[in-house]
Amino acid sequence: MYRGMDVLSALQFSRSDIEYLINLAEELRRRVESGERLELARGRILFTAFFEPSTRTRLSFQFAMAKLGGLTIDLGPEEATSMAKGESPEDTLRTVDSYNPDLIVVRHREPGFAARAAQICRAPVINAGDGYNEHPTQALLDVYTIWRVFGRVEGTRVGLMGDLKYGRTISSLSYTLSNFRDVEIHYISPRELQPREEVLKILDQRRVKYELHEKLDEVIEKLDVLYVTRLQKERMKPEEYERLKGSYIVSYDYLKKFKHIPIIMHPLPRVWELTTDVDSLPQAMYFEQAKNGLYIRMALIKTILGV
Ligand code: ASP
Repeated sequence: MYRGMDVLSALQFSRSDIEYLINLAEELRRRVESGERLELARGRILFTAFFEPSTRTRLSFQFAMAKLGGLTIDLGPEEATSMAKGESPEDTLRTVDSYNPDLIVVRHREPGFAARAAQICRAPVINAGDGYNEHPTQALLDVYTIWRVFGRVEGTRVGLMGDLKYGRTISSLSYTLSNFRDVEIHYISPRELQPREEVLKILDQRRVKYELHEKLDEVIEKLDVLYVTRLQKERMKPEEYERLKGSYIVSYDYLKKFKHIPIIMHPLPRVWELTTDVDSLPQAMYFEQAKNGLYIRMALIKTILGV
């Protein structure tokens, strides 16, 4: 599976693909944690091109490649490239692809950009986020995190909260969860930030059980997972951001009112929607989640490279 393939959308993942990657991530984790130095990707080159800011995705791909014994070359900030002279990202990628990288990871603010990059480039392309559209490898690490906590994904009740309209992790995670039997998705957001039609349509086609809520109180005690997201400030009008800022906040004081507290996940970065006093709860899983990203990305790179 996946050898030489582009990974552009979470709609590509089947349940067996996800399980394969999770098992491989677990094996690689064991080997890395036991101190083994892996040489699986020796001589291979990963190229990372982020035309939008990133901390975890970019660095965990780079760490993942290093831990597999391979090399990464990063595009660096746009200001340091010929894009500052007006060159297009397409021409930039075409040029770098001609240097023969084994794999390209790309992020761009335009929905559909990664698919376009895949048409231009000979090397396989991984979508590390294309605007509001998708972020498939984030969804892999999210599902991996749920699996590690509960030992299964089937039958889990997952609350997705916050900016469900512009947040690309929401669409990709919804698609990924749709592979698992009896999953229930609860979308919690102000009305104007409800998930996009195209996402709900796919869930309908796949017969996934989901509900829309405006208040977390209504549903929190039913949830196994509460996945909080920030407002995607960079994708909305300033007045929309000002109006919605602070419209939902998960804090320690809020959570402690409930008898049952679900595990708390967040793709990060957090801004004001998840307060730092939640970090001390055993249910806080977001830093663990970021760590899981390293191993699932190692598994994905290994699989695409066929090493
Ligand atoms: N880091 C995630 C992303 O790139 C979540 C976010 O930025 O809110 O989509």
